[in-house]
Amino acid sequence: VTFASLGLAAPLLRAIGDAGYSTPTPIQAQAIPQVLAGGDLLAAAQTGTGKTAGFTLPLLHMLAATHAHPHPPGRPRCLILTPTRELAAQVEESVKTYGKHLPLSSLVMFGGVNINPQIAALKKRVDILVATPGRLLDHVGQKTLDLSGVEILVLDEADRMLDMGFIRDIRKILALLPKKRQNLLFSATFSDEIRHLASGLLHNPGTVEV
Ligand code: AMP
Repeated sequence: VTFASLGLAAPLLRAIGDAGYSTPTPIQAQAIPQVLAGGDLLAAAQTGTGKTAGFTLPLLHMLAATHAHPHPPGRPRCLILTPTRELAAQVEESVKTYGKHLPLSSLVMFGGVNINPQIAALKKRVDILVATPGRLLDHVGQKTLDLSGVEILVLDEADRMLDMGFIRDIRKILALLPKKRQNLLFSATFSDEIRHLASGLLHNPGTVEV
């Protein structure tokens, strides 16, 4: 399996080459075609498996393929939720790395830092928003963020989000998203609580296990 055979666009293949990756990891080989096909995905994946590129590459491909002007500010097309600020920053770094040859913009937001620079950033175009749940809801409350244009939702490390008590915040956020969207759920472990969340969130999901 090669990255080119997975169907990724040339600007992404260039960025992958720049990063020095020669072949997809098993999770990437399984997840990328399924996400590109537009379906929901349930993926069992630990960190270190290349899971971040596994969802970031295909979502960048899809967003670039349907990239339109003009695009209202503060209205992301893709929302990636993570449990911690460290993971949010890391995921947004990956979005920037893999998307560097594409005309897409990303933003990361998490709590514990001044909200004003985030509010200023939301006055511009944001295609991909990476966020922790609490700070995301702060922005919703301040009406600085419009989630009605989200086409793709990613829950990264969903088990950790539940362990950290984010289930109520996640439910509040889900209620603000358009019904018709693609959902990707990544989790290292599968408790009853995760299965319950997944069964309500995902429609006929493809599965990936490595
Ligand atoms: P992750 O599991 O997403 O945290 O990724 C773990 C590490 O693997 C990151 O440092 C990536 O840069 C790296 N990585 C991801 N995909 C590949 C690949 N196909 N080949 C080599 N390294 C990769």
